[in-house]
Amino acid sequence: MIGNTWDENKLLRILPMDMVKQIQNINIYEGEDEFPIWTPDTHGFFTCKSAWKVLREGRNTTLTAKKIWHHKIPFKISFFMLRLLKNKLSIDQALHRFRVAGPSRCSCCKNYAIEDTNHLFRNGELADEVWNYFNIHSDIFDNHNNIRSTLMNWWLSDAKNKVHSFVQQCTPTVICWELWKAIYSHRYEGIKCNPLRVISQGMAYSMAAD
Ligand SMILES: [Zn+2]
Repeated sequence: MIGNTWDENKLLRILPMDMVKQIQNINIYEGEDEFPIWTPDTHGFFTCKSAWKVLREGRNTTLTAKKIWHHKIPFKISFFMLRLLKNKLSIDQALHRFRVAGPSRCSCCKNYAIEDTNHLFRNGELADEVWNYFNIHSDIFDNHNNIRSTLMNWWLSDAKNKVHSFVQQCTPTVICWELWKAIYSHRYEGIKCNPLRVISQGMAYSMAAD
């Protein structure tokens, strides 16, 4: 906290940008007592029953969960992937689910399309060009138009060695993260989406993590 406002830089170190924006929308009132809220329980109070439920569900580790978490991938990027796969990102598709209807226009194509997860991260002009580049350079044949299928295609491909395995695991996550950053920069800063910039930043990230 800085005075009565959120410390944006501190929040950005551990959380994705869109979550930070949501947190900053929460007002802080001086003199009001703070109290913890236990989110697994609908009333916000800790109970052993709800804690047990969280632990029990946590044991069902899926292939997806194994692939998005890696000690070389920062927490905020893995967390972003989790939200992407659970359709929890703040995009028009999510707003429509909450019946907040409005015109949907993506920021990744010349011809504006409806903004949904598959479009932003796989089918749209920006995403398609970026995936094509990485698919060709990684000898991965992928003709999917669904982000989940593309991710599985990468994660289930045979790896030649440990380094190759690491690249196949982490590259899709880095691609999605860089696509999200580009989309976000266009939406809030007016910076035009550029596939070459996304590719070079994705490459730089993969090499730095390797
Ligand atoms: Zn688009």
